Amino acid sequence: MALFQVEGWNLKEERVAIGGITKKKSKREKKRDKKLAQAAQAEEQDQIDDEVEDEDEDEEDDDEEVKPAKTTEKIEAKPKSNEETKKIKKRKHEDVEQPKTEKITKAPVVQVAAPVSAPLPVQKLSPLQQKMMAKLSGSRFRWINEQLYTISSESALELIKNQPVLFDEYHQGFRSQVESWPENPVDVFVDQIKLRGGNKQVNAPGGLPGLPNKKIVIADMGCGEAQLSLDVSNFVKQYNASQQEKNNNNNQKKKFQKGGNNRRFPTGGPRSLDIEVHSFDLKKHNDRITVADIKNVPLPDNSCTVVIFCLALMGTNFLDFVKEAYRLLAPRGELWIAEIKSRFTESGEKTKKQEDIGKEFVEALKLNGFFHKNTDNSNKMFTRFEFFKPAQDIINERKAKLERRQKFVEQESEKEELETKRQTNPEGKWLLKPCIYKRR
Ligand code: SAH
Repeated sequence: MALFQVEGWNLKEERVAIGGITKKKSKREKKRDKKLAQAAQAEEQDQIDDEVEDEDEDEEDDDEEVKPAKTTEKIEAKPKSNEETKKIKKRKHEDVEQPKTEKITKAPVVQVAAPVSAPLPVQKLSPLQQKMMAKLSGSRFRWINEQLYTISSESALELIKNQPVLFDEYHQGFRSQVESWPENPVDVFVDQIKLRGGNKQVNAPGGLPGLPNKKIVIADMGCGEAQLSLDVSNFVKQYNASQQEKNNNNNQKKKFQKGGNNRRFPTGGPRSLDIEVHSFDLKKHNDRITVADIKNVPLPDNSCTVVIFCLALMGTNFLDFVKEAYRLLAPRGELWIAEIKSRFTESGEKTKKQEDIGKEFVEALKLNGFFHKNTDNSNKMFTRFEFFKPAQDIINERKAKLERRQKFVEQESEKEELETKRQTNPEGKWLLKPCIYKRR
């Protein structure tokens, strides 16, 4: 059975490369295998029991891909004691205990034959050991994921600062998940950059927004391993090289054509692209990344033209990230967001139409000053949004219009209400539900 009872989000055992062991096993290895086999048996029995007990719940969940937490309470993951992990026996609901307060618990310490944080080379493990390893990795992935969705961004920064290995373990699991999706939202964003950047002039209708000097500055907030920055810089290099080549060919042609075609650039796209990507996350996994809590990144006001949150609205205070995006963006700059569909309040309501998903979220962003451009619900897994920061003249116009309709005060009080509500009930508990995975 898959680790998560959610289609598309399973860390299947088969994903671990199976390396055969041909040499004769030592006594110690045999003993270790026996111990693991017993543990696995107990585990399987537990699982059967759990499946039976979970049947009702499963039906209710309707096989959704990613489950938001059933309640909006915080989750306190219980770290396993050494004794427990040695036995590799789970207690029922070990991963979905309901927490009382925001609390960063220490990562579960896994001390089995192959500790997850310092794994043995996979090919040295027997298939059974590999299976157990996959289960433990999945369990740790779920634990870290749960933490990041149910604590504030300050606490998340602290958590990863104190235990950086959690970031690597998280991304190991995250990568496996993404591989099983029909589409990776990062690729969708990169395609947007290629399409709009390659075919249209900067700041022209349909083109990418840029600074007055045409430079496009992107902030990838919660970048993970900063794939977007790598892909974009490769694209820019390629694009500029091909434009240069076209330019050279054209100049050559012109030399031989008397009064011929005077067009210097055959395509309607820009002559060259200048795109800078800033990538922020909780750990400096590689040189492209700057460590920062995305509620407060080291870039000046109005310095970016696109801000991206790709599955990164994780902290319970994620509206602070949205406010930070507003600060960073130059007027007419765009905010791009992708989030897992089941996080939206509307997604649980069976009567709601696809196009309604994300409406409450959009309203909250509008109250934070953004104009809504587009919601794309065509993907099965995630919803993609585009907003922009209006220029000052548009803000003034809008204000005057609202005042004429005597709606300005109404909007201001809605803003206040939202702020008051988030003081006592952070938005990560109600505006976007956290993704909590079922135990298995
Ligand atoms: N955008 C990447 C990674 C998504 S996973 C992608 O789509 O592939 C979410 C990422 O957000 C994780 O790497 C996590 O560490 C990061 N993150 C969560 N809260 C953060 C915070 N407060 N500040 C910076 N990064 C954060």
